[in-house]
Amino acid sequence: MERFWRLVWMTGMSLLATTVQAVDPLARLQDEHSYAQPERVRIRDLGLDLRVDFSTRQLAGTADLGLDWRDGEARELVLDTRDLEIVRVLGRTEDGDWRKLKFELAAADPIFGSKLTVSMRRQYEVVRIRYRTSPQASGLQWLEPAMTAGGKHPFLFSQSQAIHARSWVPLQDTPSVRYTYSAHIETDANLMAVMSADNMPDETRDGDYVFRMRQPIPSYLMAIAVGDLRFQPISERSGVWAEPATLEAASAEFADTEKMIQTTEALYGPYRWERYDLLILPPSFPFGGMENPRLSFITPTVIVGDKSLVSLIAHELAHSWSGNLVTNASWKDIWLNEGFTSYVENRVVEALYGIEQAQMENVISQNGLKEEMQQLAVEDQLLVLPPLTGRDPDEALTDVAYIKGQWFLMFLEQRFGREAFDAFLRSYFDHFAFQSIHSGQFVDYLRAELIAKEPDAISALELDAWLYEPGIPEFAVAATSARFAAVDAARSDFLNSKATAADLPTAGWSTQEWVHFLEGLPSRMDGAQLVELDAAFSFTGTRNGELAQRWYPLTVRSGYFEARPAMAEFLKRVGRRKLIMPTYEALVDDPDGRAFAREVFAAARPGYHPITTASVQALLGSDTAPASP
Ligand SMILES: [Zn+2]
Repeated sequence: MERFWRLVWMTGMSLLATTVQAVDPLARLQDEHSYAQPERVRIRDLGLDLRVDFSTRQLAGTADLGLDWRDGEARELVLDTRDLEIVRVLGRTEDGDWRKLKFELAAADPIFGSKLTVSMRRQYEVVRIRYRTSPQASGLQWLEPAMTAGGKHPFLFSQSQAIHARSWVPLQDTPSVRYTYSAHIETDANLMAVMSADNMPDETRDGDYVFRMRQPIPSYLMAIAVGDLRFQPISERSGVWAEPATLEAASAEFADTEKMIQTTEALYGPYRWERYDLLILPPSFPFGGMENPRLSFITPTVIVGDKSLVSLIAHELAHSWSGNLVTNASWKDIWLNEGFTSYVENRVVEALYGIEQAQMENVISQNGLKEEMQQLAVEDQLLVLPPLTGRDPDEALTDVAYIKGQWFLMFLEQRFGREAFDAFLRSYFDHFAFQSIHSGQFVDYLRAELIAKEPDAISALELDAWLYEPGIPEFAVAATSARFAAVDAARSDFLNSKATAADLPTAGWSTQEWVHFLEGLPSRMDGAQLVELDAAFSFTGTRNGELAQRWYPLTVRSGYFEARPAMAEFLKRVGRRKLIMPTYEALVDDPDGRAFAREVFAAARPGYHPITTASVQALLGSDTAPASP
C-alpha cells in the first residue's frame, strides 16, 4: 500500500508540476461552473422583490440586474439559472421606460442548470427578470412546522454555495463577479425574514422586510431564511437569531462571539461588514455552518453545553476575512477560502481557549485528512486543483482545501516566524480586499512580500510540493497534543484490561478528548467491551453529534445491536451530512445493516435537505425507492 502510494506520488509530481504551473492566469480565472461572460458584462447591483409563499414552496417576483458593460460590442446577457420559470425579461431605457427583451432558456444540464440568454439591440443599464422558483430548487429548503424546533411554523432557508444561488435568483453565478444588493421580501405576517444583509435587531415582525447589502459580494453568499425567528444580542454589533425554543441555549453557547471578533480584528485588521450575527437553523441544515456575510448560518448540532464545538463560529467568522473579503475566483481555488479560514479559525481558538485546545483540534483534523486522502484520486489531493470541468464543485470539496491548506499556512508560519507571517497575512487581506483571485495571485504576492525578504526560509521545491503535488509533503510537521497522550494511555489501559472503563481518568475531558478516545479504538470490538464502555460513558443516545458519528459506526461493525434504536433516532433527528454519513457508510458495509439503513433513510428522508438526501442516496444506490410526493 505504502509503496504503491509513493509510486503514484512520484509520477504525479513531475506531470503535475509542469501542467498546473504552466497554466496561464486568464485560464486560472475562468470559472468552468458558470455560463456567464463577465469579461463582456458584469452585474454590479442586484435588486430583488420577492414573495415567499410557503403554500406553493416558491419564491416569485423580480430581479433587477444593474449592469456594467465591459465590451462595447456585446448585445447579449448570459445568466445562470436552475429550474427557474422565467416569465418575462425587460430592459430599462434612460428615460425610465421598460422594453420587452427576447430571451432563450436552454435545456437543463444536470449539474449547471439552464443557460439564460437575453438578447438586446443596445446595452441596457438595468435588466428586469420576472421569475418563479421551483418547489424543488436545489438552493432552498422548505421545512414543515414539524421539522422545526418549535413545531408550529414553517421554515425556509437557502444554501447557495457552491452553485445553488442560480436555483433561486437568475444571475451570474460565479465567485468572480461581485455586486451589491437590496431586497424587498414579503411573507406571512407572523414570520421573520433575514438575509445576508443589514438585519435589524429591532425589526418589526409584519411579513414585509427590506434589506440592503452595501459591500459587494459574490453570488454564493446570497442568503435568505424565513421562520419563527427571535433575536438575542451578544454585544452591540453581534447577536443570535433563532427559533424561541433554541434562542437561550444558542446565546449561552456562543457568548464568546464578540471576543472572537475582537481577537480576529487584532490579528488581521478591522471587521468590515458592520454587524456579525448568527442564525441558528433547524437540525436538517446539511452543513456545520455557512459564512453568509453579516449573518452566519449555523447548525444547532454544535450546541453541546460546554462551548467545546465553538471553533465552528470561529471558522464562519474567519470567512469575513478569508473568503467573503478575499474570494476564490473559481471553485478550483477553493483552498484560498477554506485553507485560510481553517488557519485563522485555529488561531482564534488558540488565542481564546489556549494552545492545548488548538493542538487537539489540529491533531483530529490532520488525522481526518490523512484518512480521507487514501480515498481520493491523485488530482483531488492538490491544493491548486486542475479545472473541475464537468464536475459538481460540491463534490470536489474535501479536507484537502481545508486542512492541507491550513497545514501549508502553518508551515509558512513555522518557517518565517509568527510575527512576520501575521503581518504578511494581514497585508494580504488588505491588498486583495473585496476581490476574487486565483492561486497564482496569492503565490506572486507570497513571493514578493514574504519569500523575497527571507529567501532561504523555504525552497522552491517545498513550495511546489505543497501547492502542486498530491499527498502531504514528507517534511510537513504533524500537530501533536500532550492531552491526547493522556487519552492514548487511558485507552490502552482499558484495551489491555489494566483498568475498567469506569476507572479511567476521564473527568473533565472535552469533546476533542472523547473524539480522540473513540478514534483510537479498534475498528471492531467484542460486545462485552462495548457494553462496558456504554455503561460507563453512555455513548448510545449521546446528544453530541461528534461522538455519535464515531460511536455508532463502531457499534455497527461490532454487531452491538442494542445501539440501533438510538442510532435510528440520531439519523432521523440530524441532517448534517458530516455527522450522519459515517454511520450510513458502516451500515451499508454490513449485510444486515443495509436493510436497516434503507428503513431509517425512508423515515428520515422527508426531514433531510436535498444535499444530504443526494449523498445518502448515492451511498445506498439503486435500492432506495424514489421520493414519495
Ligand atoms: Zn468554511
